[in-house]
Amino acid sequence: MQKTLILGGGTGGIVASNVLKKAMGEDMQVTVVDRKPDYHYPGAFPLLMIGERRPESISRKLKRLNRKKIEFICDEITDIDFENNRVLTKQHVLTYDYLIIALGVEYHSESILGFSNYVLNAYEFEDVIKINQRIQDFYSGKIVFFISSLPVKCPPAPYEMVLMLDQFFRQRGLRNKVELTMVTPEISPEPLAGPKVGRSVRKMLSERSIKLITGAKILSVRKNALILDQGTVIDGNLFIGVASHWTPKVLRNTNLVDSRGFVKVNSSTLETNLPNVYAIGDATAIKLPVIEAYAPKAGIFAHYQGEVVARNIARLAQGLSSKYRYTGKGACIMYTGFHRARYSTVHYFTKPAPFITLLRPSIPSYLAKIAFEKYWLNCWI
Ligand SMILES: Cc1cc2nc3c(=O)[nH]c(=O)nc-3n(C[C@H](O)[C@H](O)[C@H](O)COP(=O)(O)OP(=O)(O)OC[C@H]3O[C@@H](n4cnc5c(N)ncnc54)[C@H](O)[C@@H]3O)c2cc1C
Repeated sequence: MQKTLILGGGTGGIVASNVLKKAMGEDMQVTVVDRKPDYHYPGAFPLLMIGERRPESISRKLKRLNRKKIEFICDEITDIDFENNRVLTKQHVLTYDYLIIALGVEYHSESILGFSNYVLNAYEFEDVIKINQRIQDFYSGKIVFFISSLPVKCPPAPYEMVLMLDQFFRQRGLRNKVELTMVTPEISPEPLAGPKVGRSVRKMLSERSIKLITGAKILSVRKNALILDQGTVIDGNLFIGVASHWTPKVLRNTNLVDSRGFVKVNSSTLETNLPNVYAIGDATAIKLPVIEAYAPKAGIFAHYQGEVVARNIARLAQGLSSKYRYTGKGACIMYTGFHRARYSTVHYFTKPAPFITLLRPSIPSYLAKIAFEKYWLNCWI
């Protein structure tokens, strides 16, 4: 029996394992390795933060994959020995015929001095629970939400989180006592989506009295202050940040990566420069055609990439040629609060710039996002 090893049991890894096992059945051993026993659905973190979700309702044990005859190993991946088709974990030596790297990005709060002491990471499940606890007892003061560095995955997510904070305090009748500030290194909100989307997000923040500081270079955080370059100091009582994203060390040590540690792949087939080794999701270095910036990193893209790679591996394992191609198309829905959301269509391989639309906040878009969460958690894990 042939073996496919999937490194990472996040969005991309879960989809790839499902699709491949379904296509190949007993003819392919599919193994997923992740250091964490549980998967937490990130698209619901904004709701978890304001108490509209419970931690357990958006979490699933990865060992549930066993029900689908997908093997799950919970362990830290320490090395990849490409020459001998082996992956080393703390406790195992695993061999493969096909390898799918879906290791995502890790958060490095240490890249901003003081982050670990004074900031809660809005992208980390455990910290989102703590933010919820902190805001329950927050009756007045200044909340500063910031993005440490770029690229940031799911670029609308920081904006949806700050809009959900606005909803939370308005519903409690405290909004006039709580100041909300958003600080970002982006030149404008979601710059890859173009100036029209940027203007629209700015307008939405301004209408909700959320102060926006763009083009910020964040240097450090002190007990009650966020320090930017050129001596700008932003006072705050609660700091919520998105920590810097790096690819896992086990990837940065390989020669598959670019100068920033992201895995170079063929943007249609997700093949790396090694035979039978693929990479999908946030860890990839897929670039926009003309602008040459990293393409937006999001679950929907990791999902589609996982499907393409899994279907092609299934064909190759049966002696056929690979035929599925990743197109860079997707959709994204951004919560805006008060049971509304904004729907975006994305096609990021269009030239000269990605084609991204952003509809007005609406109840149907909100319901679509809720439905997608249910579908994903019920069908894939
Ligand atoms: C707050 C928030 C909201 C979001 N909202 C949306 C949304 O609405 N729509 C959308 O499309 N995307 C959204 N995203 C982005 C989306 O979650 C990611 O882009 C997606 O999960 C990337 O999938 P991935 O498989 O590449 O990586 P991940 O899902 O991050 O999975 C990587 C896995 O690899 C494991 N791993 C890493 N290193 C090792 C190691 N050395 N050993 C063992 N295991 C390891 C990790 O534990 C992790 O489980 C959101 C993200 C956040 C944080």
